[in-house]
Amino acid sequence: MTDPDCLFCKIVSKDVPAQLVLDRDDVLAFRDVNPQAPTHVLVIPKQHVASLEAVPDDGGQLLASLVAACNEVAREDGVAGAYRLVTNIGRGAGQSVDHLHLHVLGGRGMTWPPG
Ligand code: 5GP
Ligand code: ZN
Repeated sequence: MTDPDCLFCKIVSKDVPAQLVLDRDDVLAFRDVNPQAPTHVLVIPKQHVASLEAVPDDGGQLLASLVAACNEVAREDGVAGAYRLVTNIGRGAGQSVDHLHLHVLGGRGMTWPPG
């Protein structure tokens, strides 16, 4: 399942270049083009899913793959034990690309609450 108009589907198909960090059967990770921290990696499913809210009830395996990939990215970037996972759902929460992505942020201090 891909969406021909979706930017991140185009990164999956290599029609749009990205700095890849990890490439698994069902999951891809690449560096954010506008990093907000020394480590800022986006972890996405290769299949088009609009947001975390659109994950189907039987999507447990996909979620497990995404979380495992985030943990692996954090280890490989040297931020394991001190990183933040963020996913924005909908424009009101700041989602700008309608393909599920987890932001892996680390390498600097984090404040709470997020803006
Ligand atoms: P959102 O705002 O949807 O939570 O996050 C989308 C993220 O995608 C943003 O942090 C933005 O910088 C990143 N982004 C937008 N376009 C591109 C692109 O073409 N390549 C990469 N690597 N990141 C992108
Ligand atoms: Zn997509």
